[in-house]
Amino acid sequence: MTETTTPDYFFMPDVPIQPFQFPGLKTSHTLFIKREDLTHPVISGNKFWKLKYNLQAARESKKDTLVTFGGAMSNHIVATAAAGKENNFKTVGIIRGEELATKWEGNLSLQEASELGMTFYFVPREEYRLKERSEHIEKILDTIPNHYLIPEGGTNKLAVKGASEILTEKTSDFDLITTAVGTGGTLSGLSVGAKEHQHIMGFPALKNAEFLVKKILNLTDIENFTVILDYHFGGYAKITSELIDFINDFYRLNRIPLDPIYTGKMMFGLKEMIKNGEIDSDKKILAIHTGGLQGIREMNKQLKHKNRPIIIT
Ligand SMILES: *Cc1c(COP(=O)(O)O)cnc(C)c1O
Repeated sequence: MTETTTPDYFFMPDVPIQPFQFPGLKTSHTLFIKREDLTHPVISGNKFWKLKYNLQAARESKKDTLVTFGGAMSNHIVATAAAGKENNFKTVGIIRGEELATKWEGNLSLQEASELGMTFYFVPREEYRLKERSEHIEKILDTIPNHYLIPEGGTNKLAVKGASEILTEKTSDFDLITTAVGTGGTLSGLSVGAKEHQHIMGFPALKNAEFLVKKILNLTDIENFTVILDYHFGGYAKITSELIDFINDFYRLNRIPLDPIYTGKMMFGLKEMIKNGEIDSDKKILAIHTGGLQGIREMNKQLKHKNRPIIIT
């Protein structure tokens, strides 16, 4: 191991803010997208920002292993594996679903995390739901010396601090900032980082996401955000042909790829809201591209298997 120098994480990646259009929609709204998907080749989008201060804290407390939680399609698992490798931490993933223990190698996201050095524990869904409060998981954690625990999806106060840095002076002219939502950490960060005149709109990728509002209010105390519950497409990692068509049309028109789990749903929702006249036409809108493109490979593999149209890249 080499002597620790200034952590890589303290450079501030400056990604493009690009204009875009919605396929099949003429509108006078100002539409731009901040390409956080270009922040880092693997630790893409919001995950980079959410890990930034957690890595610093892990390093400062002299921990040598990062432990975190995720499902089989988790971008956060892959991002943590990559961040650990780059920053000289061992990484452990506690993965939802015991059944994956014998077949995880068939999952392209878990395969990539493993290649980046992550080791896995597969736990039953009931235990996973309890996280650190599960005795089963507590026993696993007891066997991992000197670890730094990062919660599911990477969301904690330090993640919010990092995500707040997605908004800068360069984004201060926009009125409305939109983001995809999973655990709500990124939306909370944008809420904290916003200027007084800015409003944040979040589109959860999961069903029955009302509970997120309370959770977000625990992470930011500024009520400058709205959570839009209508564009989950049936639930987390669930998709429809309409969504795939939209993602492909958006790509053909703008040459900007969207992922099917998060950013595709957010952009679809934003388009619908504009179309329905739910957003004033003088608004300057900035969509945050939170990344997640690594998940396309596994989704396409599953779509091919079912003989359905795939996401073009
Ligand atoms: C993880 C993820 C999100 C959700 O972020 P939260 O902070 O958990 O709300 C959104 N978009 C993409 C692409 C992600 O990978």
